[in-house]
Amino acid sequence: MSCNFGGLKMDDAEKREFLISALAPVRDALEVEKSKKQLFTEFEINPAKCPLCGHALSEKVSRSLRALRRVLCISCGRRFNAWTGTPMEGAHFSPAEYILIRLAVSVGLDIQGLAELTGKSRSFATAWTGKFRNSAHGGQEGTPSYEPTSNGGNPPPG
Ligand SMILES: [Zn+2]
Repeated sequence: MSCNFGGLKMDDAEKREFLISALAPVRDALEVEKSKKQLFTEFEINPAKCPLCGHALSEKVSRSLRALRRVLCISCGRRFNAWTGTPMEGAHFSPAEYILIRLAVSVGLDIQGLAELTGKSRSFATAWTGKFRNSAHGGQEGTPSYEPTSNGGNPPPG
């Protein structure tokens, strides 16, 4: 089955509708626990250490951190949660939603569509679309880059 919607001619509303119907089952299937695990791995979160000073945390504090609770580091006296210092910092939504929003933006769902898919406000959708679009152009390592293959000096046909 080919799913080459990029090659089809669709107007914005059709494309939005198509993407929402394609992404809705993903939204419903994302599990909070698995999504959390995924992001801990991606962001290289080490719940055994304070992200601000590197102090080793007690088992109890580390457990709280894994449960996404705010904790206090007894070494530096600062409060933080597992997302401190990651792209999820300050995000008031679940890791599952983070993964969904990132996917939706990367496949080209527009702001109105993102608001519909997530059931959130337009300003929310605008802000997070901006964040993910910017990070996609950040040129970080591991980001696939599409270099146009130069034609080796061959003359164009004709
Ligand atoms: Zn600390």
